[in-house]
Amino acid sequence: MADVIIAGAGPTGLMLACELRLAGVDVLILERRAALNGESRAGGLHARSVELFDQRGIADRFLAAGRKGPFGHFSFIPLDIGSLPTRYPFALAIHQSRVEQLLEERARELDVPLRRGAEVVGVRQNGSGVEVEIASAEGAERLRADYLVGCDGGRSTVRKLAGIGFPGTPATLTALVGDVKLTDPPPGIVFGDESRREHGSFMIFDSDQPGLRRVITMEFDKVTHRDTPVTLETLREALVKIAGTDFGMHSPHWLSSFSDAARQAERYRDGRILLAGDAAHIHFPSSGQGMNLGLQDAVNLGWKLAAVVNGQAPDELLESYHAERHAATERTLDNIRAQTALWRPDALTDALRDVFGALVGIEDVNRYLGGACTQLDVRYPLGDGHAILGRRMPDLDIKTPYGPLRVFELLAAARPVLLDFGGVSGLHTALAGWQDRVDLVEAQCQDDHWALPVIGEVLAPAAVLLRPDGHVAWAGSADGSGTDDDTAALEAALTRWFGQANNS
Ligand SMILES: Cc1cc2nc3c(=O)[nH]c(=O)nc-3n(C[C@H](O)[C@H](O)[C@H](O)COP(=O)(O)OP(=O)(O)OC[C@H]3O[C@@H](n4cnc5c(N)ncnc54)[C@H](O)[C@@H]3O)c2cc1C
Repeated sequence: MADVIIAGAGPTGLMLACELRLAGVDVLILERRAALNGESRAGGLHARSVELFDQRGIADRFLAAGRKGPFGHFSFIPLDIGSLPTRYPFALAIHQSRVEQLLEERARELDVPLRRGAEVVGVRQNGSGVEVEIASAEGAERLRADYLVGCDGGRSTVRKLAGIGFPGTPATLTALVGDVKLTDPPPGIVFGDESRREHGSFMIFDSDQPGLRRVITMEFDKVTHRDTPVTLETLREALVKIAGTDFGMHSPHWLSSFSDAARQAERYRDGRILLAGDAAHIHFPSSGQGMNLGLQDAVNLGWKLAAVVNGQAPDELLESYHAERHAATERTLDNIRAQTALWRPDALTDALRDVFGALVGIEDVNRYLGGACTQLDVRYPLGDGHAILGRRMPDLDIKTPYGPLRVFELLAAARPVLLDFGGVSGLHTALAGWQDRVDLVEAQCQDDHWALPVIGEVLAPAAVLLRPDGHVAWAGSADGSGTDDDTAALEAALTRWFGQANNS
């Protein structure tokens, strides 16, 4: 019996498993596919995802495997993200298949068991655990765990078996995608406004398969059933209708379809069953958000579920996973709906794009949209004190008793950290009951103001309590000007996030 079973070894399931293992949780991944199939939907990682990997000390692997691009985009209107206050002010072009390989490698290093060819087909829960029925080449089998997390993609079996609704907005378009050979390809890539035509839009760029190109077509106001098979002929027909040629398309390696349906699980948790990644939300892949959202889900849920499984925090802590991630993702879904609306091929939308293009030239607008597109702007509702509360901690250069470090290096073990810059009295005493769970680090930082994405400079607090996901759970003010700089507020935050004090 495992503490936690994860259904699905996509980016979300693999990342979550690694997070749980770091906290000593006994985890098992069940994956329907027999092998990595090299199918690559997502083509990139945004800044916050690279930061998440950096927080665990594994960013270099992804940076080495990808290519830096200086621009983000909003509905293909370029955004300058180069001046965002992060060490990674770029979009990292890296195929999803490569991300999965690297995460699987990391999972192996952490001794995460991964069973391939094992499909979750039944789920039953009671007060003491979850029974998971699997179908594999060896036949039917039943496994038990304390918790089950469905990371099994947009058509999640776990979500359906748990009876969790998936409300949202329905599809208004049909998009086809294929990795194919082109005998007569266009020069370079086709992307952005040049790909908008009277009958829809099309894009062509490199596939992750050598010698192949990725072709995507979008036909608006045409909704096909999502189970309609995609063939080379249907892709060719759509491309000829939109672009006037099929560019000599042949030899497909992978064909699929998607739409702009945007839905979210009505609850990310039902008792001992949780959902993360595409199982919890689907949307059009505008500006490449999906894989990044799943990674953020995994890093938000991992330490919470570990604290509950390890008996350090009450089960109610898991409610904050739904509250935080559902709200953050709802914003992203609305942002994506707006991008899709701006992509329609008609004269009114052309005019709207012109206006929007001019607005994006305004620095504040560019910064606002850049913060959203990179997911650096996420703020969880953790109170009204210091402006940094609930936001991700910036990766500052600091001096510590162990030498000069970056803040993210302190998060490698996925443990909470109380970072004391001096100036708040009684911190050590307040922390006494949590010293087994929270690392105290005394540090000096030269910056008396910190640059945060979107909101700009804020006065540096005198201490911060960092959750393992890198979000600030408490901040003591430098000047005592009315923010939560008292130890009572710190103790409340410690209790809320990391359970009761040992001495209470
Ligand atoms: C054309 C396209 C382009 C995209 N581009 C981007 C992009 O640039 N950036 C971005 O961030 N996102 C992008 N996305 C979205 C991205 O691909 C998804 O958001 C991402 O794959 C979600 O990861 P996941 O791990 O949650 O789910 P998945 O990747 O779907 O993984 C789910 C896993 O669960 C397994 N599984 C399913 N059912 C079961 C079961 N019953 N039992 C056991 N295992 C099961 C599946 O085999 C699969 O391995 C794009 C999507 C498309 C369609």
